[in-house]
Amino acid sequence: TLVLGIETTCDETAAAVVERLDDGTARILSNVVRSQTEEHAIYGGVVPEIAARAHVDLLDGIVDTAMKDAGVGFAQLSAVAAAAGPGLIGGVIVGLTTAKAIAMVHNTPLIAVNHLEAHALTPRLTCALAFPYCLFLASGGHTQIVAVTGVGQYVRLGTTVDDAIGEAFDKVAKMLGLPYPGGPEVERAARGGNPARFDLPRPMLGRDDANFSLSGLKTAVRNEAARLTPPDAQDIRDLCASFQAAVLESTADRLSVGLKLFEARFGAPRALVAAGGVAANQAIRGALQDVAAKAETTLIIPPPALCTDNGAMIAWAGAERLALGLTDTMDTAPRARWLLDANATAPAGYAN
Ligand code: ATP
Ligand code: MG
Ligand code: FE
Repeated sequence: TLVLGIETTCDETAAAVVERLDDGTARILSNVVRSQTEEHAIYGGVVPEIAARAHVDLLDGIVDTAMKDAGVGFAQLSAVAAAAGPGLIGGVIVGLTTAKAIAMVHNTPLIAVNHLEAHALTPRLTCALAFPYCLFLASGGHTQIVAVTGVGQYVRLGTTVDDAIGEAFDKVAKMLGLPYPGGPEVERAARGGNPARFDLPRPMLGRDDANFSLSGLKTAVRNEAARLTPPDAQDIRDLCASFQAAVLESTADRLSVGLKLFEARFGAPRALVAAGGVAANQAIRGALQDVAAKAETTLIIPPPALCTDNGAMIAWAGAERLALGLTDTMDTAPRARWLLDANATAPAGYAN
């Protein structure tokens, strides 16, 4: 089967064609991602209205390129998949409407994919991974530990009660005057810094749930920065290193509890899988390696280009759903909020 996937939930305009073979393996025939980093850089963060307009301008061309790169025509597609949420609603509308138009004109099934489900199924696109496995999703918008027990079967074991990890990296970068997007900048600065100089809190350490909290740590960084008037280059490196060390320790603790909760309910996981932009962080990768080794499981991190938002993961989730006969109707609505785990309730004050 050949599936076109469209991703427009945040600040990447992306389209890809993925082929799923009968044995469940996959080939990525094309994967075109246009990041809108430059459009948003001067504002220090993603501006929803600018993102939506950019998706309108860019998407048709991106879809064309994805089809040409793959060397296939619309008539050959088995389905068209689009991320139908969760995300910035203006962008989601652009992607889902475009997918509906293609599906209608070419009389092809439509598949409305949950963006988080696409992240969750990505390791099965890149390697032969069987269910169940434990997903650690850490991006700018989400921080979750999810038990993936089948296509469409997800149980959330933990989530952040306030900021996402990527969001905390971005905010720390901003308060220290580092450029946007801040995650990679903080990691770079941390390399030359002393992680023991600032005594920052380790949020949630030792708690028996698997939830995360980042806002107290972020505030502690702000307070330390305010005491340095103004922070010099070495102060910034030391603060970044101290912040990252606190994130690592908290993350390792939360994940080891998450893996214990997983094992108690679903047995030993086939793997611990990391996804989302934060998984690009080398120090975090090292911490995940330790967590996986202690829990006697394998760590799988898809290549960076498939960890961050892309069209191939949407196409693949579409292909997995299509194989189970799960298609959607033309009246499917775009959704700003869409919990992956139908039974999950959001912690107070938090929607994802
Ligand atoms: P969503 O949350 O909807 O999945 P997103 O666009 O926010 O989407 P991604 O594109 O997966 O998420 O990841 C971007 C986030 O990852 C940003 O917050 C960025 O700062 C963070 N990030 C990227 N590289 C690093 C790094 N090396 N260290 C820490 N954080 C990083
Ligand atoms: Mg992004
Ligand atoms: Fe994402």
